[in-house]
Amino acid sequence: MPSTDDAILATHALAKDFNGFRAVDGVDLRVRRGTVHALVGPNGAGKTTLFNLLTGFLRPSEGRIDFDGHDITGKPPERIARLGVTRSFQVSSLFPQVSAVEHVELALQSGTSLGHRFWVSDRRLDRFRGRAMDLLAEVGLERQAASPAGVLPYGQKRALELALALALSPRLLLLDEPTAGMGVEDVERTVELIGRVRQDRTVVMVEHNMSVVSSLADRVTVLQRGTVLVEGPYQQVRSDPRVISAYLGEPVA
Ligand code: ADP
Ligand code: MG
Repeated sequence: MPSTDDAILATHALAKDFNGFRAVDGVDLRVRRGTVHALVGPNGAGKTTLFNLLTGFLRPSEGRIDFDGHDITGKPPERIARLGVTRSFQVSSLFPQVSAVEHVELALQSGTSLGHRFWVSDRRLDRFRGRAMDLLAEVGLERQAASPAGVLPYGQKRALELALALALSPRLLLLDEPTAGMGVEDVERTVELIGRVRQDRTVVMVEHNMSVVSSLADRVTVLQRGTVLVEGPYQQVRSDPRVISAYLGEPVA
């Protein structure tokens, strides 16, 4: 691959059928190393399904996925996670009584058990304390280290999810709607946070908030009914007539 177009992730004619319904339909996605790449598109466009294909949670019906020189098509989630593809955890996977720092320690201990609920072990987790505190500091939660996850406000729960994902040393970080349900302040904090954690990593994010996309994304792929409608830099994509009509006249801010 020429270095001018160094793709860490590439899909080739990727497709996924659900009982005859083609939710992802021949997607060729190229994500360049070190970039933030946004996936946008109306509800039902196939964004989450595409994420599930990339992480191995769903098997493609057709096509191929290459990650950093490995053909990961149809590989199990654990194997894909071990190669460095990490999806952010969901708030619903947090244990209300377990402290923020213990969550991160468990994630560090579990290595790549992404997609599984944490297994709370009796084994000493102290050896992960230093690294866990560093990760909490990276997401601005050092002062909440001892707080049970259940008492954290929503924005801080989302920051904790991000710390858990970072604990798995991702080379490609997948974020599905990282600012969903957040108020303006949390959105701003999250943009700042993602801007920081993107260093040395590649990020693909599904994001509906166009100001977040414009702040963070180097490239934008617009999906519609399972296919790529437009791909390019944000400034070019936002004014594309096909994109505007895909949003049924909604302005793409
Ligand atoms: P998006 O994340 O862009 O909103 P999804 O990937 O969730 O879209 O869904 C794309 C389409 O695939 C939708 O029409 C949805 O109803 C359908 N779909 C998603 N998952 C399944 C499934 N497990 N079984 C059947 N249909 C599904
Ligand atoms: Mg979705």
